[in-house]
Amino acid sequence: MKLSRMHLKTLREVPNEAEIPSHILLLRSGMIRKLVSGVYGFMPLGWRSVRKIEDIIRQEMDQAGGQEIHMSAIQPSELWEESGRWFAYGPELWRLKDRNGREFCLGPTHEEIFTDIVRSDVSSYRQLPLNLYQIQTKYRDEARPRFGLMRSREFIMKDAYSFDKDMDGLDRSYDEMYEAYEKIFTRCGLEFRPVEADTGAIGGSNSHEFTAISDVGESEIAYCEKCHMAATVERAGCVDAQPQGEVSQLPMEEVNTPGTKTIEDVAAFLGVDKTQTIKALLFVTYDNNGEENGYVAAFVRGDRELNMTKLVNALNIPEHAIEFADEDKMSAATGCVGGFTGPTRLHDCTIVVDSELLGLKNMCAGACKEDYHIKNVNYGRDYKGDIVTDIKILAEGDACPVCGAPVKHNRGIEVGQVFKLGTKYSESMGALYKDENMQDKPIVMGCYGIGVTRTLAAVVEQHHDENGIIWPMAIAPYHVIITVMKPDDQVQSEVADSIYNQLIAAGAEVMLDDRKERPGVKFKDADLLGIPIRITVGRGAADGLLEYKMRRDADKEEVSVEDGIARAIKTINEER
Ligand SMILES: [Zn+2]
Repeated sequence: MKLSRMHLKTLREVPNEAEIPSHILLLRSGMIRKLVSGVYGFMPLGWRSVRKIEDIIRQEMDQAGGQEIHMSAIQPSELWEESGRWFAYGPELWRLKDRNGREFCLGPTHEEIFTDIVRSDVSSYRQLPLNLYQIQTKYRDEARPRFGLMRSREFIMKDAYSFDKDMDGLDRSYDEMYEAYEKIFTRCGLEFRPVEADTGAIGGSNSHEFTAISDVGESEIAYCEKCHMAATVERAGCVDAQPQGEVSQLPMEEVNTPGTKTIEDVAAFLGVDKTQTIKALLFVTYDNNGEENGYVAAFVRGDRELNMTKLVNALNIPEHAIEFADEDKMSAATGCVGGFTGPTRLHDCTIVVDSELLGLKNMCAGACKEDYHIKNVNYGRDYKGDIVTDIKILAEGDACPVCGAPVKHNRGIEVGQVFKLGTKYSESMGALYKDENMQDKPIVMGCYGIGVTRTLAAVVEQHHDENGIIWPMAIAPYHVIITVMKPDDQVQSEVADSIYNQLIAAGAEVMLDDRKERPGVKFKDADLLGIPIRITVGRGAADGLLEYKMRRDADKEEVSVEDGIARAIKTINEER
């Protein structure tokens, strides 16, 4: 493609709303175009890269036995009511009505649709296993869309669903998808880490998230360098502090602690360590109609952070059905006092206690009384939990739940996730098959997603410098950009055309910058666009020479036209 004919508009300025490199660079290079907040279109170069990612996904999915289909983004509410997710999915589900008042949503995912297909088409064990997938536009009505393609309201996703006779079959399907994902992300040029993940709104038992390592990622992962433990922080299990078995329980004592509303304040005031205090977090919960239906008080050791994912899992409610309580309002109903809430004097609320508090003796907790705390609070004798379980975050430096070594934290971008759904959808929606003995059995399912447009952004996060994008060959919009220093110079123009035609004939994807712009402008654009191989045709053209440079390397080299072409083709074939 000749740039003089290409629809390309690069920007010199950094767009205001863009905060992270991928968002800035994809906008500046004219690869994506914002329509409204969280909704982007793809311009010629950006779309070529999206299609290349899709092609890699298709090849690996087909290789792993997947069959591609294409379903509508519009889904009727009845199917979501059958699975119980019309409410559970919450406000991120993009709902709409047709002219007759019938309710639909724009699908954020397609478990219901695929389950519906399979329950009507599959009746016998002979038709299993089955793996169906699609690459399709998805919708999520994000409260705060941001970071461009990272958290957008419309995005392209590959979603696959496996259907098996039993759990062993699901294990095999899951492993096949896991391996296909490793190949896909490797081919896209990503540095990634598969980590154990929470199953969230999708449900099911096991899940792994494929996380592209990046400081701007919204996933926080905990991993261990001594063993293979790697999990999202929401998911990672924690090691409880050692129980203090021998310590005798002292009598409770109310102490005046004026103005000590934080754990830091009270620990300093009483001269104790934060690990000897109990922290309270207060919440209100909502029912299916959005009405308040109760209060929750969660207690963790003072130095710990509450893990919201573990809390909502323990309460068995969706994440959007709980939020921090208005403490004044909650006080009237439960006796809590903002900043001074402890577990001993609360009433009429669900008390959730982190498991490690059971073994800790003579703790300091709020007295549910302004400016007072209670010393020597002991579980069992002085308070009890309605729910007792691990509700804390595995912090950096905490003991690895597998081997005990100190864990590390990393940030990452979730580019894919695989789930073992089991029979959650087949049971609620009646997707059954007849086994060898003509007995009805629920089909065992798995589901597997890849954020296609998010993968594009993640690649840019990992492959860029201050001047622009540095595309890996496999998903670069074009392989080579030829820059002609003086397009008016007949020799330069002819040599450039000849290189362009020879490269195309050899199967390369080539851009020819024949625009009547200053060389500086062209070089800036070439850096910004990030095409892997840069060939410059200038004064040396008269002597049959060109300048050869890889976008990722600093050095350039003057070589003969023949050598330059041969080198480009060799590199493309090795890396594409
Ligand atoms: Zn470990």
